[in-house]
Amino acid sequence: MKKHNFYAGPSILPQYTIENTAKALYDFADTGLSLMEISHRSKQFVAVMDEAVSLFKELLKIPEGYSVLFLGGGASTQFAMIPYNLFIKKAAYLNTGAWAKKAIKEAKIFGEVDVVASSEDKNFAYIPKDYTVPDDADYFHITTNNTIYGTEIKKDLDVNVPLVADMSSDIFSRPVDVSKYTIIYGGAQKNLAPAGVTFVIVKNDVLGKVDHPMLTMLDYRTHIDKESMFNTPPCVPVFAALQTLKWLKNLGGLEEMLKINVKKAGMLYDEIDRSPIFKGTVLHKEDRSLMNICFVMNDGYEKYEKEFFDFASERGMIGIKGHRSVGGFRASTYNALPIESVEALISVMQDFEKTI
Ligand SMILES: *Cc1c(COP(=O)(O)O)cnc(C)c1O
Repeated sequence: MKKHNFYAGPSILPQYTIENTAKALYDFADTGLSLMEISHRSKQFVAVMDEAVSLFKELLKIPEGYSVLFLGGGASTQFAMIPYNLFIKKAAYLNTGAWAKKAIKEAKIFGEVDVVASSEDKNFAYIPKDYTVPDDADYFHITTNNTIYGTEIKKDLDVNVPLVADMSSDIFSRPVDVSKYTIIYGGAQKNLAPAGVTFVIVKNDVLGKVDHPMLTMLDYRTHIDKESMFNTPPCVPVFAALQTLKWLKNLGGLEEMLKINVKKAGMLYDEIDRSPIFKGTVLHKEDRSLMNICFVMNDGYEKYEKEFFDFASERGMIGIKGHRSVGGFRASTYNALPIESVEALISVMQDFEKTI
């Protein structure tokens, strides 16, 4: 039976990425050696790193003055590296969920944090919009896509202080005006590569302003100076990321990717809205994520939750269980998820409706 992969992360990758990476695990760039066993200083791997950085910049149209880094440690290490490199006297954060809270916790170790708004009162089912960012904040941190709750900030915000964004789960899902951001970062395992590599886009001129001594590995400048080769980079995930970037370029870039994502998410949201037995969990339509689509059994149908889960699982729907803090279901519709998988899930939802 065909499996449809709706996992939230690690999650579905293009077949192109998986096939090319699998081949390179046996014979990388005609070296006769595995990608796993070659020096990261070999000219073949340096070429991979260079191409990944340049394609990353090309697809996101990253302006001059920014660096693209491939690091270890996950987005969670960035929660600490951001204040470590930027925090002087005060930082502002938008609290839109569990990941935002983890980022806030790290920043508080450095000093005053102004949480300008929070949607915790409604279990993060919306994006707060009515807030002001203090002019004297060193930076303002947002989580553009809230993977757990299915909310997304789909517009690039205009703010009066440097903007920092965790884009772990919506990077490359749409064009982004990078010039509005000072740092964009994320774990690659949602939309780009297998787990193990973290991307950071950083505006060079924001660095070097903090006055505490800098640990070498936690200083962005170390990795900028050595082009992500200060220490051994996660070679296999970087290679896989390059394959996904090539796949995106072949597909027509981010404008095209956005069109496909709007279509896929739209189909599923339409079905959730139409169906009498399901309802969406996000309060306002404009906040609905294109990447993680959360829904629950509608009022009166709660008792069918487990039955639907089993029904869908038996029909090849993998990874649709909602996060424990939201319950119900979450279908992640990342870039690589084919439209056929969305159609298959909709059919299963309709077939289940007929059984009750
Ligand atoms: C998955 C996720 C993270 C955590 O990433 P790690 O690489 O596991 O540290 C952080 N933020 C968001 C929005 C995520 O979806």
